[in-house]
Amino acid sequence: MYIIITMSLEKYKKKREFSKTPEPEAKKKKHKNPMFVIQKHDATNLHYDFRLEIEGVLKSWAVPKGPSLDPKEKRLAIETEDHPIDYANFEGTIPEGNYGAGTVMLWDKGTYENIKKEDNKEVPMKKAYSKGHLVFELKGKKLKGGFALTRFREDKWLLVKKDDDKADARVNILKKNKSTKSGKTLKQIEKAG
Ligand code: MN
Repeated sequence: MYIIITMSLEKYKKKREFSKTPEPEAKKKKHKNPMFVIQKHDATNLHYDFRLEIEGVLKSWAVPKGPSLDPKEKRLAIETEDHPIDYANFEGTIPEGNYGAGTVMLWDKGTYENIKKEDNKEVPMKKAYSKGHLVFELKGKKLKGGFALTRFREDKWLLVKKDDDKADARVNILKKNKSTKSGKTLKQIEKAG
């Protein structure tokens, strides 16, 4: 099933007042090698924001339990509004009273490779997204190897590790709890203000 998609930052803009939040303004950008980023976000409920660069924006999902290296673990990923590419560098505290108020840590960042194929041909990310099945190889500091994101209902997706040489059911990757940007913990970022 196809759904109509737009890569748009309108929702992102509407939810924020840029005079009151340190978050970046809405601008589209493209990289030669598309990027991914995961932000640990201590908002009302702690979650991990998983973002993939597609067509000049960061498609975004909130993953309450965070990613896992165990291919048997299916992690719920709730799609949220597209974010600007500049968001991939954002770490800091969103002040009380603003959308998403709380501390944001840049937990992991890197590039990815689209590995979704059909009949031996690469399926473009935009098309794979519209069909609700993305398969990609992450090249991050913490996360590496293949992952799949599969839509099962409206904005609900599942994030699952592919069973490859980077899979490891014994390792809890979330124990690595420091920023890939600053080396700080959430508490230290919060204190820095
Ligand atoms: Mn969030």
